[in-house]
Amino acid sequence: MELSSLIRDVPDFPEPGVVFKDITPVLGDARAFAELIEALTAPFVDAGVAKVAGIEARGFTLAAPVAVHLDAGFIPLRKRGKLPYDTVREEYALEYGTDALEVHVDAVTEGEKVLLVDDVIATGGTAAAAIRLLRRIGAEVVGLSVFIELVFLGGAGHLDEVPLHALLKYD
Ligand code: AMP
Repeated sequence: MELSSLIRDVPDFPEPGVVFKDITPVLGDARAFAELIEALTAPFVDAGVAKVAGIEARGFTLAAPVAVHLDAGFIPLRKRGKLPYDTVREEYALEYGTDALEVHVDAVTEGEKVLLVDDVIATGGTAAAAIRLLRRIGAEVVGLSVFIELVFLGGAGHLDEVPLHALLKYD
């Protein structure tokens, strides 16, 4: 199945000039969703992944099924103030201001192999913060698996040696 045909470009969302890659038509199609999860998982089946981390909120929809597929646990990386227990925080720059991701301090044991999963990599700022955060709590980040890479925004260059697996690349 051609997954790219189910991605909907929404111009000027959430702000003028941005073309938003809406993946909800993929999620809503049982066969396409299963195929997407399989494709995100495939390169990592023999990588010894203990846990899969997902970035709030769209990342959760992909990371959790990938975790089940890999027989691994799931780690939510959430926006500021959402996680109930003790957390570690990483801030990252946005076009205007900063944002932050948090994780529970006990989400991994030292040296555990973690796969990071998200829907889209754009500038790479969010993924880079997620990698720093996971490393700070002791994870070995074995890869970043994404559905869509917006190549022209250069995100792959900010991943600090973490291998990127992108299913669809837009130039
Ligand atoms: P960035 O930190 O610039 O790599 O942005 C990555 C985050 O923003 C991802 O978690 C995506 O969900 C979201 N994102 C950025 N640009 C787009 C886009 N054009 N379409 C859909 N989501 C996007």
